[in-house]
Amino acid sequence: MAFPRDLVSKLLARCHRRCCVCHRFCGIKIETDHIVPKEQGGSDDIENAIPVCFECHAEIHSYNDQHPRGRKFLPDELRQHKEQWLKICDERPDVLVSVHRAADVGPLQALIDELALNGKVAARPNVQDQGARFHDAQLRRAIEVGSIAILRDEIREAVLDAYVAMDAASQIVDSAWRHPKGSNSWAEGVNEAPRRIKDAQPQITKAQEELLKFLATESPVV
Ligand SMILES: [Zn+2]
Ligand SMILES: [Zn+2]
Repeated sequence: MAFPRDLVSKLLARCHRRCCVCHRFCGIKIETDHIVPKEQGGSDDIENAIPVCFECHAEIHSYNDQHPRGRKFLPDELRQHKEQWLKICDERPDVLVSVHRAADVGPLQALIDELALNGKVAARPNVQDQGARFHDAQLRRAIEVGSIAILRDEIREAVLDAYVAMDAASQIVDSAWRHPKGSNSWAEGVNEAPRRIKDAQPQITKAQEELLKFLATESPVV
C-alpha cells in the first residue's frame, strides 16, 4: 500500500517539490513520508503524507530512543510543518518565485558523492607524480552543519574511519614529497603510499554503503 498516486502528484505540485521541513528544493530527490508511521497505525490517506527531502527523511527516522541525541520529530510537529509550508505555498507563491532555487544537494548526499570520488582516487593510486588527492571538503561541511553529529554511532564511525585512513595515506605521500625526488626517504614513502591508499579503499566503500543505506528510501515517490 502507498499513498494514492494522483493525490501525491497534487501534493508535490502544491509544495513546489520543496521539503516541508527544511524548504530545500528537491527535484526528484523528494519523498512522501508517513506523518504517523505505518507501524504505529498511520494510514495511507494523503492527510498522513508529508513531502520531505532525503536528509530530513533520514533524520526523522534516525532518532534512537536508546541513544537520545537531539530532539525527536513527533507526528504533531510534522503535521504543523506541512500545514505551515503549504500555507506559504498557497498564499504567498511570490515568495517562492523570488527565492533562490538552491541547486544544493544535502550535505550527506554531497558526502556520498565525495566518497565516490575518493573511491576513484584510491582505485588508481598515482603517487609518483603526487597524483590525484583525496578530498574532504564535504566531510568538513557535513561536520559544520551538524549532519555528522546526528548519525548513528556505527555510521559515523564508518565515515570517520574512512577519512582517517585517507588522511594517513595522504600524510605518507606528503612526507615522501618533502624529500628530494629520488632520495631514499622519498622512495620509501612512494613505495609505502599505494598500500596505504589501497587499505583505505574498503573503508571508503563501507562508509559510502552505510550512508546510502541511511538515506535509502522506504516509500519512494514514483
Ligand atoms: Zn528537508
Ligand atoms: Zn519514512
